[in-house]
Amino acid sequence: MHRLLTLGLTVALFAVAAPGGEAQQRMVVVIDPGHDLRANAETEPIGPGSSMRKIKDGGGTSGVLSGLREADLNLKVGLRLRSLLERSGVTVVMTRTRTANASMGNIARARIANRAGAALFLRIHADGSTDPTARGTHTLHPALRRGWTDDVHTESKRAARVVQASLRSALGFPDRGLQERPDFTGFNWADVPVILVEMGFMTNPTEDRLLATAAYQRRAALGLCRGTLRYLGRSPTACRS
Ligand SMILES: [Zn+2]
Repeated sequence: MHRLLTLGLTVALFAVAAPGGEAQQRMVVVIDPGHDLRANAETEPIGPGSSMRKIKDGGGTSGVLSGLREADLNLKVGLRLRSLLERSGVTVVMTRTRTANASMGNIARARIANRAGAALFLRIHADGSTDPTARGTHTLHPALRRGWTDDVHTESKRAARVVQASLRSALGFPDRGLQERPDFTGFNWADVPVILVEMGFMTNPTEDRLLATAAYQRRAALGLCRGTLRYLGRSPTACRS
């Protein structure tokens, strides 16, 4: 009886004294599968108050052998990643769950992440090049731009480093490292840590053939899940499919 009472009291105290645990439960990750069914030739300012404008979305690339649309690959990996993260206790918000519209543009995507108060705004893409031998995985993050990215620059770079390592080891493609970008609208409008992964090159026959398979889409999602949890200070072993 006494033991039970003590145990009950201990549990109650622990619940009250563990706000960190509760905060972790509520952690939100925003997954942004790049592009959509159609490109969007409208323009938007590359940062708040900027007179420089860029096209909303050029439409993305496609698989040189598979014919797979980049927008579809990004979504397949994004949906798998959502399941993995949700099963590990992370709350997920998707910028899109279908490939059916004209692309919403990058300010709209960033605003979804800002509104969600995302711990990480994770943008999923695959690369294209006129050089069919170009291959490998890389991760882009915002350059330091005063007034635009000062608040997210350092944390985004840390996220890029951690997620790149996990994604690269999961896919086994060459390591193209990190790249800082001052000109990405979706970075400059973000008020939360943001990265953009380029999983591999769909214009490279080897990487296209692999990325078009469910097995490699699963690998990509696992790598992104592990990297995300590592960045959030949690154990990557929670990523189980
Ligand atoms: Zn893309």
